[in-house]
Amino acid sequence: MAIHLFRNIRLLNPAQGLDRRADLLIADGRIQQIAPDIIPPEAAIIHDAAAWVATPGLFDMHVHLREPGATHKETIATGCDSAANGGFTGVCCMPNTTPAIDHAEVVHSILWKSRQLPVEVVCTAATTKGRKGEELAPMGELHEAGVRMFTDDGDCVRSSEVMRRAFEYASMFEGAVLSQHCEEHSMTKGFAMNEGVVSMKLGHPGYPDVAEELIIARDIMLAGFCGNRPYHVSHMSTRGGVELVRQAKGRGQTNITCEVTPHHFVLTDEAVIEHGTNAKMNPPLRTQPHVDAILEGFRDGTIDAIATDHAPHALSEKQVEFPAAPNGIIGLETSLGLSYTYLVEPGIISLPRLIELMAINPRRILSLPVPAIAEGQPANLTIMAPEEEWQVDVTKFRTRSLNTPFNGWKLRCRPVGIINRGQVVWSDL
Ligand SMILES: [Zn+2]
Repeated sequence: MAIHLFRNIRLLNPAQGLDRRADLLIADGRIQQIAPDIIPPEAAIIHDAAAWVATPGLFDMHVHLREPGATHKETIATGCDSAANGGFTGVCCMPNTTPAIDHAEVVHSILWKSRQLPVEVVCTAATTKGRKGEELAPMGELHEAGVRMFTDDGDCVRSSEVMRRAFEYASMFEGAVLSQHCEEHSMTKGFAMNEGVVSMKLGHPGYPDVAEELIIARDIMLAGFCGNRPYHVSHMSTRGGVELVRQAKGRGQTNITCEVTPHHFVLTDEAVIEHGTNAKMNPPLRTQPHVDAILEGFRDGTIDAIATDHAPHALSEKQVEFPAAPNGIIGLETSLGLSYTYLVEPGIISLPRLIELMAINPRRILSLPVPAIAEGQPANLTIMAPEEEWQVDVTKFRTRSLNTPFNGWKLRCRPVGIINRGQVVWSDL
């Protein structure tokens, strides 16, 4: 790796209470020196970085890499390329692959395939075997393989009894946390979008917000009943969900956490009219009151993390009748820009808080170390240009799929590049 000197860069890591300008020298994959006016070593590449910010590498805790099983949509390698392009140095992949990540061998294989990539991959594993919601997965061997988060993502664990046993079983393993795709399936059969005025107008079957809220309420109660177990709400989309998590934290269940995707705080179900199947996801886009409640959840600290639910699908799969299309959109390459433009620019949160939501809290929830910005430390950094305006252009994406409603959007905060595992990757965005 070449030697890089970033001149007068803003170093920002709220986990260390760090926010100052200095020169930053990276060599051999390490932070060699942080000081004013560093004399550049021979052969150093010098960057005038006054407009850039260096933060701990961003981490996306909810990504579908599609490998094994659906490599025409994405692979571990293309997913990580996409993550690096979007400014991430780590991702956590979801278990709804084929086969499902429900035994240690699949975890080993994913970690092996990703071991030399500049983006670190950690695995979730299924709560139940085959994600069928019946028999618990072998959490012991999965934990041994490095898994800390268990979820049947894509599906919800329907049975309260199974979920109770999962909480009890997980309590045997240090750092284990249950997560849930919160959907009361008996109320959402055949849904295509949020249940409301727009679904009525378009004639599509709806998914009522209460179907998400019921499961969040149930699981928070079960987590409390089982001895205040940690629990993480995946891709939360509803006003009631925000309120339930806020109340739980207020009561002292401080290990209840939640994540929200950019599309759920940027778009409403009206987007279905314009973007069709590229606005079809699970949970579905909701209405403005839900978006407002989520923004309030960001403002008061109820929401812990931003995660993309990056869900690649081939063009041919999305170019079908709306109800028949698969759910989800890609997100890795638009997450930073959307989050900055829709949360930091309007003053809902600060840039340091954004770094907590996108780099620090996801790692803490997964019991991963937060990279430090200090001399001698391995460089695990995201370099971003907060004030830079850029236009989303899917031809610059590195994901294998192109299902996004955000093509052409003008955003602020361009990912400049990442440094991790001794590699520098510059963003094309
Ligand atoms: Zn999900």
